[in-house]
Amino acid sequence: MTDSLNTADGALPAAPNSGASAQPFTIAGTVIDPGASATIAIPVSNTATGLPASLYVRVLHGARPGPCIFVSAAIHGDEIIGTAVIQRLLAKLDAANMAGTVLFLPVVNIFGFQAHSRYLPDRRDLNRSFPGSAKGSLAAQLAAKFLKEVICHCTLGIDIHSAAVHRYNLPQIRIAPNNENLRELAMLFGAHAVIESPLRPGSLRDIARGEGVDMLLMEAGEALRFDELSVRCGVNGVLNVMAHLKMIQPHPEATQVTIPARSRRAIWVRAPRGGLCMLQQKSGDAVKKGEVIGRVAGIFGDDAQEFRAPIDGIIIGHAVLPVVNQGDALVHIAEVMRFGDVEERVDQITEALLNDRLLDEDELI
Ligand SMILES: [Zn+2]
Repeated sequence: MTDSLNTADGALPAAPNSGASAQPFTIAGTVIDPGASATIAIPVSNTATGLPASLYVRVLHGARPGPCIFVSAAIHGDEIIGTAVIQRLLAKLDAANMAGTVLFLPVVNIFGFQAHSRYLPDRRDLNRSFPGSAKGSLAAQLAAKFLKEVICHCTLGIDIHSAAVHRYNLPQIRIAPNNENLRELAMLFGAHAVIESPLRPGSLRDIARGEGVDMLLMEAGEALRFDELSVRCGVNGVLNVMAHLKMIQPHPEATQVTIPARSRRAIWVRAPRGGLCMLQQKSGDAVKKGEVIGRVAGIFGDDAQEFRAPIDGIIIGHAVLPVVNQGDALVHIAEVMRFGDVEERVDQITEALLNDRLLDEDELI
């Protein structure tokens, strides 16, 4: 960081100035001037209390023209890591210094978020409810509003998830297969792993592709928890993407980016029996085919059964709850393209993120 890059109010330095001004931006009937920000409440329904329930969007509309993107969190209501990422980004970004527009949605599944639940009150999964409909279930209505008022404005979305409850995910970006533009964005995001995975029907990524919107899906950390590495990875990644799109200036101390673990196939290793699980490896560790990664024993510690890595790869997710049933998913292993130094590269990414002062919560850039 140099003094010349500081701005008076401590926000990120201005985007490259093309000289042109942006046009006003209209969302859900509200007009936002160039260089301004606004919080928009998009009515969805009433809650069971009869009080209004709305989808909240903070819009940062840059002073100069540029792309429109969205950053969303808590589509699964208990996966709250992206909410922390968005809070930290909002403290760093200033629309007056930006080009283009960002729509931030810290909580999409407003119902599940309050209940600490992945689902909506009707037990539907919002991320299987797209494109939704105005007359469908509550999940379908929320999905339809999100599609119409947010996704359709944008050319790119970054949707942030964590592992499901009682699991941890190594920070990773998941993208649709065989999309060069997405591959480039995923690599420069700076997460530990990039996974090309097929799209699930009814998911946000699936419907966004149909609308011509590219999607990066970030997975990081545990449900219902914040962890500093995951938050930093999300903040750094969104800023990297925005800088690449010339919406903000690049990181002033950006150095050679470490190549993440890249994979097209990941396998879950499941509990061989019910009991107490002791893991010998964790997310970020490289494992060789046949290597013991943990064991499950009875409550007296006897009759332990080991389980082993079925492939060479890197662990991208693991269970954190030791009490398991037979068949529970315990360790997620990604087969990687460059195995030899993958653990060193993953460690380098962790170290760089944790040492980057510009990603500190209180550090105004
Ligand atoms: Zn999720």
